[in-house]
Amino acid sequence: MYIDGRWVDSGDSATLEVLNPANQEVLALIPKASREDARRAIDAAFEARERASKLAAHERSRILLKVASLLEQNSREMAVLIARNVGKPLVDAEAETARAVLTLTFAGEEAKRIYGQTIPLDAHPIPAGNENRLGFTIREPVGVVGAISPFNFPLNLLMHKVAPAIAAGNTVVAKPPSDGPLPGLMAAKLFEEAGLPNGFLNVVVGPGEVVGDEIVTSDKVNAISFTGDSETGRQISEKAARTNKKVILELGGHNPMIVLDDADVGAAVSSAVASTFGYSGQVCTATRRIILSEGVRGKFLAHFEESVNKLRVGNPLERTTNVGPIINRRGLEKIERLVEDATARGAVAKTGGARLVSGEYSRGNFYAPTVLDKVDKGMEIASKEIFGPVAAIMKVTREEDFADAANSTVYGLQASIFTSNLARGIKLAKKVKAGAVLINDRTNLRWDNAPFGGVKMSGMGREGVSLAVTELTDLKFIVVNLGES
Ligand code: NAD
Repeated sequence: MYIDGRWVDSGDSATLEVLNPANQEVLALIPKASREDARRAIDAAFEARERASKLAAHERSRILLKVASLLEQNSREMAVLIARNVGKPLVDAEAETARAVLTLTFAGEEAKRIYGQTIPLDAHPIPAGNENRLGFTIREPVGVVGAISPFNFPLNLLMHKVAPAIAAGNTVVAKPPSDGPLPGLMAAKLFEEAGLPNGFLNVVVGPGEVVGDEIVTSDKVNAISFTGDSETGRQISEKAARTNKKVILELGGHNPMIVLDDADVGAAVSSAVASTFGYSGQVCTATRRIILSEGVRGKFLAHFEESVNKLRVGNPLERTTNVGPIINRRGLEKIERLVEDATARGAVAKTGGARLVSGEYSRGNFYAPTVLDKVDKGMEIASKEIFGPVAAIMKVTREEDFADAANSTVYGLQASIFTSNLARGIKLAKKVKAGAVLINDRTNLRWDNAPFGGVKMSGMGREGVSLAVTELTDLKFIVVNLGES
């Protein structure tokens, strides 16, 4: 654990085994934080918050840019660590590392542009004398930020919390996931090396219900930035309300891809493959439902099945691997259960539909890339987030039903529409309830400097570095009475 600038053991010496999901190899034994350890980390962040708020913007910027540069220098080692710790294919792990460099760089730049605004008080006729008053806003750090992140982007999603928080002059207590803690811990080393003062960033790994709960309920923590499951997010939001904390929630999704009858089917198929099966579908923005119009159904399915059958499932460290393992047994069992439920109710597995258990797959958590046709909205798979390599194919015949089909879950993260008629695409995009709609592109894209977040049970608040800085600062309004003369 990293507390107050020192690498320390858990108070009760408990440890946590970190496993490689591709083969169950023990990668590391790390301290497993207790509630008391979480309190120590919170106390360190709380003590440091005054110092952090006084550190000049150019200093905060310099440190963040230095971390970005150190990460770039160590990118090979970081990518391999991500691949081994969470089973992400190396090519995708490299992309995540490169994106984290960008996130840190954007945050380093943003630290220098946290602007206030002058308010024209003389536009307000009462009380008299407003022409002699000067009103302006400044943005102040909220104080201590609790950063709780999931396993699937163990580096970049943590950086989307830590980097904007530091840019804004806050201190941080970070809780990386127990299933993928190593990239976050390595990142903390880079912050240390870059000269981040003691106590500004503290990192503890331990069970969410204990360590996460302590962070969420502590009255010394002023804001929670959480990414994870929607139900966890809902519980966090309820608890955080008791101490009136700011909360940013980036939660689950059930992202639809709509293919209209005038779509470029080739482009739609390659997008569907990448966004459904990338990182075995363990991506919040992965395509979960593919909603086909009658006109493209036959052609789309034929091409899609053929492309899915070419995917190479295997060792994440091999460059030719497209689809790696599922993070843990629990995740694997959930996929199995949802697919079994769907096939029992009439869905048809055109390809895949089962765990992979023989040969190189025997020690890992592998599930075959699966195309499930004839899914209808009564099946659990059509509404529950599956977090696995499964495409649920659905059909819509009437133009007016596409938006309803897309909006039929409690989620609203991202959606995509394939059409060669831009006006038709934009009209439909406006009816789809989601944080982002991509026209003729994959659901699973995110740009680290762009607004990102969901509606409905997919979250509240927005990330994207400058928006996260806004969320993690408080607006203060200052008025000066200049007097009459
Ligand atoms: P999770 O909710 O199980 O865990 C996320 C983090 O929350 C972990 O660090 C965990 O230890 C912690 N946690 C668990 N219970 C807690 C509690 N009671 N109090 C405080 N913290 C607690 O999620 P996961 O399985 O690691 O990640 C997958 C989920 O994350 C999916 O639902 C996915 O869609 C979502 N996700 C969303 C986004 C997004 O930006 N919207 C991005 C990635 C993942």
